[in-house]
Amino acid sequence: MQIISPNKVIRGKNAWKRSLPEIVKLTKSPLLLGRSFITRSLRSRIYNDLIQLNLNVFNAELEFDCCEVDLTRIYNLAVEHNCDSIITAGGGKVLDAGKLLADYLSVPCITVPLSASTCAGWTALANIYTTEGKFVKDINLKSCPKILVCDHSFINSAPKKTLSSGIADSLAKWYESSITSSSNKDGIIQQAIQISRVLRDQLFIQGEDAFNNPSEENLAWTNVVEANSLTAGLIGGIGGEKCRTAAAHAIHNAITQINSNKKPLHGEIVGVGILIQLRLEESKNNNKLANQSINQLVKFMKNLKLPTTISELGINVFENDNLQKIASFTCRKESEIHFLPFEFSKEDIIQVISKFESQKIKI
Ligand SMILES: [Zn+2]
Repeated sequence: MQIISPNKVIRGKNAWKRSLPEIVKLTKSPLLLGRSFITRSLRSRIYNDLIQLNLNVFNAELEFDCCEVDLTRIYNLAVEHNCDSIITAGGGKVLDAGKLLADYLSVPCITVPLSASTCAGWTALANIYTTEGKFVKDINLKSCPKILVCDHSFINSAPKKTLSSGIADSLAKWYESSITSSSNKDGIIQQAIQISRVLRDQLFIQGEDAFNNPSEENLAWTNVVEANSLTAGLIGGIGGEKCRTAAAHAIHNAITQINSNKKPLHGEIVGVGILIQLRLEESKNNNKLANQSINQLVKFMKNLKLPTTISELGINVFENDNLQKIASFTCRKESEIHFLPFEFSKEDIIQVISKFESQKIKI
């Protein structure tokens, strides 16, 4: 069975207001989940709108990233208050936490992304981290959210770097799915890969305009927001597991194991992961276009003020055995890097990363 999409996607101007009649059909006692201080005023608007509908809303806040400690605490609160749905409003990790809670409680989930940093509002997947933000594992959920509310004015209030981070995460769809699944003969998977190519091209064409002119009136901005929040999720839905991740995300997961005081966003790390994946393809899979792709990506990423090396993520790989740690975690048995269709060893990863971090990337 394939889990493809949310039951309903409500997008655009005033999407939140337009979703309210659908939400009241699903729930009487929702748990409203969020996290950060900067989204608090938006979430209090959401809370008030739900109260106006005579819903019995219980408000809860995460303390950390999507982690077991928070999930257990909020699960118990949801049971205690007889919550019959989860409405989760925030970035990727808040959306993941809300989806997991709804899955554990077997109640409907309504996702309200408050940034365009990931496609977590769409997918039937969630990542679990430690309280310090180290990646632990991903979990397949029983279903996608019942309703995804992609409200442009909510997303427009997010910090600019969430948009660029989301762009890097969406670009990974093409670089990861095209290498893992290009020889797959399944027509639907082939078509999903082609959507990821069109998505990449659209981000290359409109990404900078969206980043520099983040207005709801700017078509480039709305296109990029929906590319990150919706299309990237659709590709994972129809393409399945192998269309989702490969080396870029495996390297992301490994980099999160190392403490960085810069606290980079998910997509910021994934973007660096794409560049390292391409270097690995160049050295181990004879990808003759890798260098050209890297130059194109680095130029684009720099224009979006995205990090392009691990050191720009706040980590020196040549200190504290970091290189070994990253390579070991990247290559562990359950890592998605093993979806790559060519042979490589942990030593190859060490070599590629150490060369990558030592060189000055020319653009
Ligand atoms: Zn991602």
